[in-house]
Amino acid sequence: MCPGIIADLHSHTIVSHGKDTPEAMLRAAQEAGLEYFGISEHSLLPPPYVCRLYRQDMPERMPALLDWLEQQRRTATGPRLLMGMELDWTPDCPEYMRQVVASRPFDYIIGSIHHLDGRLSVGGAANWPCSESEADTRFSRYYALMADMAASGIAQIASHPDFIKLHCHALFRRWITQPRNLAKVRPALLAIKRRGMLMEVSSAGLRQPFAEAYPCPEIMTLAADIGVEISFGSDAHTAADVAGNFVALAAYARSFGYTQSAMFVQGEKRTLPLPQNGEQERA
Ligand SMILES: [Zn+2]
Ligand SMILES: [Zn+2]
Repeated sequence: MCPGIIADLHSHTIVSHGKDTPEAMLRAAQEAGLEYFGISEHSLLPPPYVCRLYRQDMPERMPALLDWLEQQRRTATGPRLLMGMELDWTPDCPEYMRQVVASRPFDYIIGSIHHLDGRLSVGGAANWPCSESEADTRFSRYYALMADMAASGIAQIASHPDFIKLHCHALFRRWITQPRNLAKVRPALLAIKRRGMLMEVSSAGLRQPFAEAYPCPEIMTLAADIGVEISFGSDAHTAADVAGNFVALAAYARSFGYTQSAMFVQGEKRTLPLPQNGEQERA
């Protein structure tokens, strides 16, 4: 069945903390009927940033993955394979970020806010819950960092734009539904649009207990209002999650008026139609 979404631009492998090999991920993309599949492994982190989930030998394994991607994107059959990278926004390490981006001929860079000022891992369960006032500080800072990241022009895609809700969904709902707080998201979306970036609409949130895509409806409405273009990603860490919940994700995007998505191939933006439910349209 055609899910309407033909490009999954966000996925991971056993090189970082995924469960499957790049070959298995690519096979899953083919089986899912995708036309484009991006492997966007996490960038290595500069000290003092850490992710306790990453494999110890990730630095040694990364070059082989990127060599494989460079080779396979030229020769692989099936979906067109793209070489992305999920770059951590680490504003105190600008040289590190420049080196990551310049290190290979990536098709695109996904910019992600996983840490607040080098201290707090927003996806760390142990860091939540917190008080309402602390949450307001964190959420406000998260969107200020996203605006900076977008304005820097270092990435082409802004990933999972409310990932910070992962371990505090109820807190985040109370925050984002207040207009004065949604207004704090606006500068980030305006910067994304100004830079010609894409806002990722991710099915990863649908795999969580709160079963809500990234980003939430309030941010989707604001993004559509501003005219922010979107891309789609599963953020799959297993082959089973490649293109996961894409039928629901397509319907979600359409419900905010989106009729197309976009993507980057070798840094060039392409738009893709988002057919209505059940249609088999192709560009
Ligand atoms: Zn991420
Ligand atoms: Zn990811």
